[in-house]
Formats: sequence, structure tokens, C-alpha cells
Amino acid sequence: MKLDQYIELSEKIMILYSEMSEHSQKFGQENNLFCLTGCGACCLNKDVFVSELEMLPLALEFYLKNYKNPDKLEQILEKAKNSQSCLFYQKISEDGLSGYCGEYQHRGIICRIFGYSKTKNKNGYQLSVCKKIEKNDNVKIEDAPEMKHYFELIQQLDFSLSQKLLPISIAFSNMLTKIITDMYYERDDLVV
Ligand code: SF4
Ligand code: SF4
Repeated sequence: MKLDQYIELSEKIMILYSEMSEHSQKFGQENNLFCLTGCGACCLNKDVFVSELEMLPLALEFYLKNYKNPDKLEQILEKAKNSQSCLFYQKISEDGLSGYCGEYQHRGIICRIFGYSKTKNKNGYQLSVCKKIEKNDNVKIEDAPEMKHYFELIQQLDFSLSQKLLPISIAFSNMLTKIITDMYYERDDLVV
């Protein structure tokens, strides 16, 4: 893929992310569902899986900031490969349960629905809410964000990059590696 194609794809993903965040925030406010202040326990989970495509905006930004510094690119790739959980999580307590996302704007689909989301089964929609969030029995489940819906939308942007779900640090590292490889042949044209 060429640089302008990466940029265009990244912009489309960011528009989708912004719509998703708006949807999720509106639902949370209307239904009194809020994360605990300072909590980041979900980011410690080793099972935060995303597609490479979801990491494209972050990997591209990182590449464009650091493409003249191969050591820095190498360091982040090494760190990503060796991370047990998400490498962007910034712990602020010793046990790691308190912290924040160091790349909040670029976080993936699952990261935007850690708190609550709806899923469909044979009985209709059900709401899953993080155990730490105070429950509200009067929730309008049908209005909740649904991972499947947003995942289908992102797949329409690039099917091949969204086929596999991987641990988030690995998905980032794969995406950054792809960008570095593609840009190797285009460096003369790189205008940032
Ligand atoms: S990208 Fe951010 S929100 Fe998602 S798991 Fe990592 S630190 Fe948490
Ligand atoms: S979803 Fe749950 S674990 Fe994650 S930050 Fe919110 S309250 Fe904490």
C-alpha cells in the first residue's frame, strides 16, 4: 500500500472511531453507566484482541513521527513483541489496576466497549456490563453499542487487514512492520 492510501484509510478509521465513541458516551450518559475514576483494570487483560487494521492509525502516526529514527522504530517493535498485555497502558498503581490509556484517541474497537456493549443471541439482545460498573436495570439495551456492528463496518474498509484478531501489542507490531516494509520502497516520496 502507498502512503496516501494508508493516510486515507487511517482517516476513515478515525471517523468510524469517533462515531463509535460518541455512540458509546451518549449511551453511557443516558443510562448512568460510568467507569470507575482512574480504573484501567481491563487494559491489563491479556485477552485484548484487535485486528491489524484497528492499529493502523496509531502505527501510521508512530511511523510518520519516527521514520528517520530506525532505532526508535526497532525499540517499539521489540517492546510490542515482548509485551504481555497492551504496551500503551500507563499504570499508576503498583498492582496496575489504576492507570490510563496512553493512546486513547487511537484505541481499538474493543477498547471503546470495555464498559458495556450489547450482543445478540437467540433470545434477542443482551447487555454485558463490566462488573465494576454500577448496574442500572432501566437500560435501553437496543441503543447500546455492539462490537459486531462496528467490526463489520471496519471490515468494509479493508477486509484483508481485519481478518485476524490478535493480542493488541502484536497487532500493532504487525501493522507497523507492514508500514515500514511498504514505505521502504517509497521513502523518496515521503512528504510529512
Ligand atoms: S489501547 Fe488503550 S484502552 Fe486499549 S487496551 Fe491499550 S491501554 Fe487499554
Ligand atoms: S470497563 Fe471496568 S475495568 Fe475497565 S476501566 Fe471501566 S470500570 Fe474499570
